[in-house]
Amino acid sequence: MNKLKKGCLIVFSGPSGAGKDTILNKIMGEKENLKLSVSHTTRPPREGEINGKSYYFVSRQEFIKMAENGEMLEYATYCGNYYGTSAVKVQDELEKGNDVILEIEVQGAEQVMKKVPEALSIFILPPSLSELKKRLKNRGADSDEVINRRVKEAEKEIALAHNYDYVIINDDIEKSAKKVLKIIELQEMKSQNMKHIIDEVLSSEKNIG
Ligand code: 5GP
Repeated sequence: MNKLKKGCLIVFSGPSGAGKDTILNKIMGEKENLKLSVSHTTRPPREGEINGKSYYFVSRQEFIKMAENGEMLEYATYCGNYYGTSAVKVQDELEKGNDVILEIEVQGAEQVMKKVPEALSIFILPPSLSELKKRLKNRGADSDEVINRRVKEAEKEIALAHNYDYVIINDDIEKSAKKVLKIIELQEMKSQNMKHIIDEVLSSEKNIG
């Protein structure tokens, strides 16, 4: 029956260091029909990041060409680099009945909310800005200068959290992951996402009759 159901688009935001990746890692294995969109970026890969898995790492020229060709569902600049979501891949997964998570920053999220008003949006909030800075430092992936820029960016992002359907304070990864899964399951049951199933039930009734 699931094949008849169109998937849900899920916008997942929160400042760098809020714990989005850790939450997503926890939930991805829990739900078979949940897919994480792989973004394109002009940011250089960090140690351990794999092209095509973490991101598609592209040149500025390639990125701009994709954007100009209208291939992006959304895109934005963040700390001097471009980040964007290819529309085709997302559409493909939704048609297959899979839910698609876009882990994107606030400007891109705003574009998606406008284009796809029925999308579910979730914002992950750190318990405090000092905790956020601590997490970024512990991650050891960025220089102090980059960390300070990311904290400044975080303040601007948090100020827009009220635009999202749900806000989760991430002070406990396990609990936050459970909350995200619960919200997604509720979204799947919204009548707007059950139209095909409702039609199927109605037509099966007719077949019996
Ligand atoms: P990072 O450089 O830490 O991987 O990502 C920086 C920010 O860019 C994060 O907030 C992340 O969610 C966001 N981001 C990643 N991919 C995309 C995308 O495709 N579009 C937009 N708008 N933001 C993205």
